[in-house]
Amino acid sequence: MGGKELISGKNLHMHFTIKRSFLTKALTKKKDLTVRAVDGVDISIQKGETLGLVGESGCGKSTLGRAILHIYKPTAGEVLLQGEPFSTRRDKAHRFRQKCQIIFQNPYSSLNPRKTVRDILSAPLIIRGVKNPLDRENEILMLLAKVGLSDYHINNYPHQFSGGQRQRVGIARALAMNPIFVVADEPVSALDVSVQAQVINLLEELQRELKLTYLFISHDLSVIYHLSTRVAVMYLGKIVEVGETVNLFENPLHPYTRALLSAIPIVNKAERRRRIILQGDVPSPINIPSGCRFHPRCVEKIGSICEKVTPNTTNHGHNHQVACHLYK
Ligand code: SF4
Repeated sequence: MGGKELISGKNLHMHFTIKRSFLTKALTKKKDLTVRAVDGVDISIQKGETLGLVGESGCGKSTLGRAILHIYKPTAGEVLLQGEPFSTRRDKAHRFRQKCQIIFQNPYSSLNPRKTVRDILSAPLIIRGVKNPLDRENEILMLLAKVGLSDYHINNYPHQFSGGQRQRVGIARALAMNPIFVVADEPVSALDVSVQAQVINLLEELQRELKLTYLFISHDLSVIYHLSTRVAVMYLGKIVEVGETVNLFENPLHPYTRALLSAIPIVNKAERRRRIILQGDVPSPINIPSGCRFHPRCVEKIGSICEKVTPNTTNHGHNHQVACHLYK
């Protein structure tokens, strides 16, 4: 990738422990369980780009986004913003959190129903140091205009908005901190199709205007194709393929990516791909298959190597990388 790296995650792990009670352990001899939601991810996001992150539900996309932002403290690995590792020192952590923001998936639950838009947007502005109420009011009005809402919305409560408007308030709240990097976690999947396009266009306009960098998490491949500069495909806690958007969509290398892309509906009969139906669900992150973790569902499995050996990531030109034994 030719651009300048803005943020990266090195060997990120995010494991959660499910504790069993003392009695269960004593009676059944079963140990605590570990959910390996993110399991050794290297990710690099360039300044000004949109990196699309795709994968089935439960593959760890949202957890990875939160681990990068240190909403969840990673179990292992480190996050570097502009080359500087995340630090728990109060002033440094505060600066990191100001520069890196998140837009949540569900605008219905991510806004406090008891607070007006003024209250919702005041909170981050106060954290940012805008102490004067008049300055704050002006900033809130500017933020509302930026996300396509009107001045009079300032006194409204979340329930007085439509889904799309609520997501605009969520976007304004993220922008209130003057971020340089935003994780957009399925920001349109809870919205009507007609409203999705408006919110996507808004995100694109804001990126151009404010020179933002996005990690855009979605399971909707057409949205990812439209928005992303590069795409990373995640499966069961690991990134299995990453490449420039057009290149990856036209020449997917990993069997999992091929299966995902074959599910996109295409109107033109001549251009349709052969549909690859994946068998079963994503295995549990508590009990991850050995070797290549995709092997129980892979239609291109090449024998015991896939069951026993974890594939390394290899380069295939044009910033295209894949982790699969088919490409030694
Ligand atoms: Fe399929 Fe083997 Fe490649 Fe895994 S490593 S995706 S099982 S071919």
